[in-house]
Amino acid sequence: MKLKALTLNGFKSFADKTKIEFQPGMTGIVGPNGSGKSNIIEALRWVLGEQSVKSLRGGKMPDVIFAGSQTRAPLNRAEVVIELDNSDGFLKQQPPELVITRRIYRNGESEFLINQKKVRLREIVDLFMDTGLGRESFSIISQGRVEAIFNSKPLERRVLIEEVAGVLKYKKEKHRAQKE
Ligand code: ATP
Ligand code: MG
Repeated sequence: MKLKALTLNGFKSFADKTKIEFQPGMTGIVGPNGSGKSNIIEALRWVLGEQSVKSLRGGKMPDVIFAGSQTRAPLNRAEVVIELDNSDGFLKQQPPELVITRRIYRNGESEFLINQKKVRLREIVDLFMDTGLGRESFSIISQGRVEAIFNSKPLERRVLIEEVAGVLKYKKEKHRAQKE
C-alpha cells in the first residue's frame, strides 16, 4: 500500500486547500520554524482516526480548524483527505484505490468518509487495525518523541521497545494472572 496524496483544507495553518503528492521513494518536508511541517504530520494522524487532542497539540478537537490570522478570518471547517494505492491488497477486502476523508465543524460535529461514503470512526479504526498504521501506532514518531527515546533510562527504553513489539499487552496479562 502507498500513500499517494494528502490534501489539507482549513486544517490548522493550512487555510487554503493544499495537496501534497507523494512520489515513489522517500519524501522530506522542509521549511522554517512554524511553517506547518508538524501540522502536515498531524493531519495524517488525524485522518487516520486520531482522537487524542493532546497529541494534536490542541485543547479541543475543533482547534484543528484554521483559527484565523492577521489577514484572514477563521474558518468553520477543516478537512483532510488521503489517497491510498491499495493495489497490492495490503488492506484486506478493500478496493485498489481508497480515498479517506475526515471533516470537522466548529460545533464539534465531524464526519468520516471512505470513497465518498459516510462511515463511522469505528470503520476507519478497523480498516487500519493490525497494520501498524492508524492511531496509537508507532509508525508516526512526533517531534520531541525522538529526544524522549534518546534521553530515556534503559528500563524506560525497554518498555518502549516492548510496546512496539506488542509484548507489553501479554506482560500485563501475565502480571494480572499472577496476582489472582
Ligand atoms: P518547527 O520547525 O518549529 O517544528 P513546524 O514547521 O513543525 O515548525 P508547525 O508546528 O507545524 O510548524 O506549525 C505551527 C504553526 O501553525 C504556528 O504558527 C501556529 O500558529 C499555526 N497553527 C496551529 N494551529 C493553528 C490553527 N488552528 N489555525 C491557524 N494556525 C494554526
Ligand atoms: Mg515541527
